[in-house]
Amino acid sequence: MYLSLEHYERPSTVEECLRLLHHPDEEAAILAGGTELNVRGHEALERVVDIQGLGIDRLRVDRGEVRIGAGTTLARIAEHRGLAEPPMAALREAALAFANVAIQNRSTMGGRIMIDRPDQDLPPALAVLGARLRLAHFDRAEERVREVEIDYPTRDGARAALEGALLLEVIIPVDGTDASALRRMGRSAVDAPLATVAVAIRGDRVRVAANMQGSTADSLRLLEKTEALASAWLSRRPEGWRDEARASLAAELEAYGDDWASGEYRRDLGTTLGVRALAVLFGEEELS
Ligand SMILES: Cc1cc2nc3c(=O)[nH]c(=O)nc-3n(C[C@H](O)[C@H](O)[C@H](O)COP(=O)(O)OP(=O)(O)OC[C@H]3O[C@@H](n4cnc5c(N)ncnc54)[C@H](O)[C@@H]3O)c2cc1C
Repeated sequence: MYLSLEHYERPSTVEECLRLLHHPDEEAAILAGGTELNVRGHEALERVVDIQGLGIDRLRVDRGEVRIGAGTTLARIAEHRGLAEPPMAALREAALAFANVAIQNRSTMGGRIMIDRPDQDLPPALAVLGARLRLAHFDRAEERVREVEIDYPTRDGARAALEGALLLEVIIPVDGTDASALRRMGRSAVDAPLATVAVAIRGDRVRVAANMQGSTADSLRLLEKTEALASAWLSRRPEGWRDEARASLAAELEAYGDDWASGEYRRDLGTTLGVRALAVLFGEEELS
């Protein structure tokens, strides 16, 4: 129940939206699909700013780029014809893997990215695809909106750049990406992932990212040593490449344990998912 709510606003411009969110001494929050906010964290809110009137829900595939408005639902991403080709497979798989169809129909790209939860499939997909985020901040000194474009945050502390921002759009380059894949595993088909590994071939380089559910979403890692190995295998793969990949992944993945899975189990799962994702990327049988 929104027990403290006094203002519900539905602005039609970004400037108005950011001004409404910058009311000092007031508990305010953005409402997008509502699948998080309507469930928890709203009890003390005095103001809700609904961003569904901003017109930031467009998805375009144009001039070598995919541009996904922050208000685009995961269902739309999963079913969009322009994302059906191999380069965007990791993105589609991440959207399809989330919760269940009812939640995919409401949950937005913006809600997935801006919420600081570690149990996610989208971050590794966006990291390997080289996604950029277009953000809007309200500049108090100049009393105006300032837009910035940043790389998808992949280093410790990098998420700080998202604080206080309104996410407008996710921009993913398509040109130069040949294929991508994502493998994840949860305790059940609708559960959050225990581990997720995404891979992509971009230019002459293989990108590999894993989310091993560390205690914050900063736990997303690009696995540089495995990337270097896999990139060398693009032209020719040694017979035992899966064993080498497994050893490299095991050395790079963190063993994060919690109530859901032990660290060793999660790391072992991550290595298996990583090898399977690479096999798909190389056009080989997923299971050897
Ligand atoms: C059954 C069920 C299962 C779920 N499973 C998971 C799970 O496995 N993992 C997980 O992480 N979450 C899970 N969730 C929570 C929730 O669905 C997701 O976090 C979802 O991505 C929120 O998206 P939304 O569009 O509904 O956001 P909302 O609930 O509308 O907003 C949540 C918050 O996101 C931020 N936000 C949204 N859009 C923007 C924007 N454009 N710019 C800036 N900030 C923005 C705001 O802080 C806002 O208050 C689950 C929810 C349900 C009901």
